[in-house]
Amino acid sequence: MPRRRIATVVGTRPEAIKLGVVVAALRDRPWAEVVVVGTGQHGAVVDEALGGFGVAVDHRVAERAADGLAGLAGGLLSGLGAEFDRLRPDLVLVQGDSTSALAGALAAYLAGIPVAHVEAGLRSHDRLPFPEEANRRLIAPLADLHLAPTPEARGNLVAERIPAERVLVTGNTVIDALFQAADGPAPAPRERPLVVVTAHRRESWGEPMRRVARVVTRLGRAHPEVDVLVATHMNPAVQAVFAEETGGLANLECAPPLGYRRFVRTLMAADLVITDSGGVQEEAAALRLPLLITRETTERREALAGPQVHLVGTDEELIFKTAAGVLDRLAAPGVRRPRPCVFGDGRAADRTALACGWHFGHNDRPTEFHPEEFRPEEFHPME
Ligand code: UDP
Repeated sequence: MPRRRIATVVGTRPEAIKLGVVVAALRDRPWAEVVVVGTGQHGAVVDEALGGFGVAVDHRVAERAADGLAGLAGGLLSGLGAEFDRLRPDLVLVQGDSTSALAGALAAYLAGIPVAHVEAGLRSHDRLPFPEEANRRLIAPLADLHLAPTPEARGNLVAERIPAERVLVTGNTVIDALFQAADGPAPAPRERPLVVVTAHRRESWGEPMRRVARVVTRLGRAHPEVDVLVATHMNPAVQAVFAEETGGLANLECAPPLGYRRFVRTLMAADLVITDSGGVQEEAAALRLPLLITRETTERREALAGPQVHLVGTDEELIFKTAAGVLDRLAAPGVRRPRPCVFGDGRAADRTALACGWHFGHNDRPTEFHPEEFRPEEFHPME
């Protein structure tokens, strides 16, 4: 059986989490030689997240990206192009919607190397989120294999005339990562309720993010019986906003970014999540966690089927009232275990590896993910 070299492009924390499990699954295949190419977009947190799945960056892009998104995209395009010329992979795997993913897909396409897109087909049908919506739309015509997390994502691709036979519904690999991180002894139940907050989207930078930081402080003040943990993002601009707008409350902590396993175990013991993160929306669905999405629109519309999921934007009053409503109805503290959900059943990495095998003719087309079996028709407060 000929060995096939698969280059996996990893630049950001969510890519490390969502591709770490895929790299581990591919390494189990005798036909696959996997090379992880790091672009350095998010620095050390990427190494930490990959390490949790026993994976490390094999090659780092040498090209130093210039400032700004255009500089970053240009630097990564030429850096990844040079890396692919040297490595001569048979397939390039990119994930999601980052600038690294777009640069990786374009560099591979220009070098005549087939591209597999993990988490393909998410669409907000809007200009936002910026630049992610454009990035993932631009990757679609460059890719040869489209690994859609949900049937809705597949529908988006087919509507754009991507050939249906090249689209496979795998589930989202973040649910595999979540199951792995949640494995082992459960964290101890907390004595006090916990609200977990994350914020980072570029379109919220400035006043919208300030409003989120302010309302989180107001919640902490109005609910002294509750602990609020802000897991701040790596971006210094985001950290500065939370440092300026929060503080002085004994029950509110702004922590630096948490390691993935620690973050998951914190979510397992949480009672409410307030986030603009894509990955955290998916994880909250698998944990059946009450969720406030601080965005105007979400490309993960499947999440909205959850009975305790609210798309609240960045309006202070709406966030405050909705969060207070959830806190007023809290059950006794407990610990949640992830369950299969609309976003995945924990087998997406295996399906992704099988899809790559199918691309090379090593195995049959894999069976797809069917989320209808896992609709959160009822709310499970705690395990
Ligand atoms: N995450 C983490 N530590 C934290 C906060 C988040 O490991 O302190 C994880 C989270 O579990 C999720 C991913 O980071 O899987 C989401 O990353 P981010 O919000 O930066 O990006 P997005 O998912 O919005 O693209």
